[in-house]
Amino acid sequence: MSTSSASAGTADFLIIGSGIAGAAAGYFLAPHGRVVLLEAERSPGLHSTGRSAALFSEYFGNATVRALTSAARSFYEAPPDGFTTVPLLTPRGVLALETPGTAPQFEAARAAGATAPQPVVELDRERALELCPVLRPTAFGRALYKPGACDIDVDAAHQGFLRGLRAGGGSVVTGARVRALRRQADGWRVSTAAREYTAPVVVNAAGAWADDVARLAGVRPAGLVPRRRTAALARIPVGGHGDGEGSGGAALRAADVSGWPMITDVADTFYAKPESGGLLLSPVDDTPAPPGDARPDDLDVATAVERFERVATLRLRHISHAWAGLRTAAPDDTPVIGPCPSTSGFHWLAGLGGYGIQTAPAAGALLAALVTGNPPPSALAELVTDLTPDRDHGSEREKR
Ligand SMILES: Cc1cc2nc3c(=O)[nH]c(=O)nc-3n(C[C@H](O)[C@H](O)[C@H](O)COP(=O)(O)OP(=O)(O)OC[C@H]3O[C@@H](n4cnc5c(N)ncnc54)[C@H](O)[C@@H]3O)c2cc1C
Repeated sequence: MSTSSASAGTADFLIIGSGIAGAAAGYFLAPHGRVVLLEAERSPGLHSTGRSAALFSEYFGNATVRALTSAARSFYEAPPDGFTTVPLLTPRGVLALETPGTAPQFEAARAAGATAPQPVVELDRERALELCPVLRPTAFGRALYKPGACDIDVDAAHQGFLRGLRAGGGSVVTGARVRALRRQADGWRVSTAAREYTAPVVVNAAGAWADDVARLAGVRPAGLVPRRRTAALARIPVGGHGDGEGSGGAALRAADVSGWPMITDVADTFYAKPESGGLLLSPVDDTPAPPGDARPDDLDVATAVERFERVATLRLRHISHAWAGLRTAAPDDTPVIGPCPSTSGFHWLAGLGGYGIQTAPAAGALLAALVTGNPPPSALAELVTDLTPDRDHGSEREKR
């Protein structure tokens, strides 16, 4: 699909990449000028954006990420008229188990979660079993419940951003991989195989390829590292399950599963989230990988099942679908948002790691404010220095 038009060669804002980052940037920039969004693939959202676990959680990531996520909540809860016809957030909750030997991680997660807008709640084993009856009672001690975590309708959010961009006069051009960027006196000249585009402002929202795009423009890369994460959708065994412990042996229907919270452990070695009548499983792998079309490894899928079955009596024998995607982050695991300090007209909206969906409305709004010179909303203004491409990206990376 290509929606290019005859006038698409000239823009006020040229955005590279049509994942959730580029789409959100285009949505918030469209009221300020003509947006052209260039996407290498044949349709938007084929890479990380189309492969996420679709969770919104103000308990994830460092303080900057959490603040950015909280700043996105009001948009997702009450998007502008015409953005979507479906709810974007649906309450889910996360149950994080204290498995043997993880008391320090439990205490750390409890302390970190105490300051969330909806603070974490400590649950004893009985209460945790009420929320998810297939848990193996001997596999965990205490549990933390994160009540504010929600499912996000990623496709509705992504399409809402793209629709708004187009309604504001912008264009989305697919099959348009950017191959060269040259800075000239009057702005940027950007080349794809088919044509050239000019604009005074370029936004680099190229996900795992964002450092490659920076190099094409002669801009210092941000040191982004793409890391593969695997996910698999397991079917629920119908009519009986388990190995005798806990509620084992009781018949289970897919409908029972859909109301469970996401199940994880405080050491963050797996998660299992109700999805499409089954369970979306991940071994929380974090394997450095080159930018590209990430593929799932059978061993990672088996690891996810094995780790879930350690804490649950449910036996998952049927994987209906497995996939992998790239979570691309700076060394400090903080998004890179704002103007390049040394090259005028080049802006970053990248390094969104495992938080790109949940932060998109805030990240897009902040990027647009920085591009246009308008003051950002106050909740975002205080994050500017943490997010700037000009910061010392550090060497420590906080895994989540
Ligand atoms: C398994 C998994 C689970 C996740 N779970 C969550 C979650 O629960 N919640 C959450 O918030 N986040 C989650 N994430 C992270 C989230 O998916 C990403 O942060 C987000 O999708 C990043 O969006 P993006 O637009 O930066 O990148 P992408 O969606 O990858 O988009 C970048 C686009 O740029 C295009 N591009 C690259 N180079 C060029 C070029 N030269 N010219 C033109 N186009 C180009 C690419 O084709 C691509 O479409 C998860 C990720 C994975 C893999």
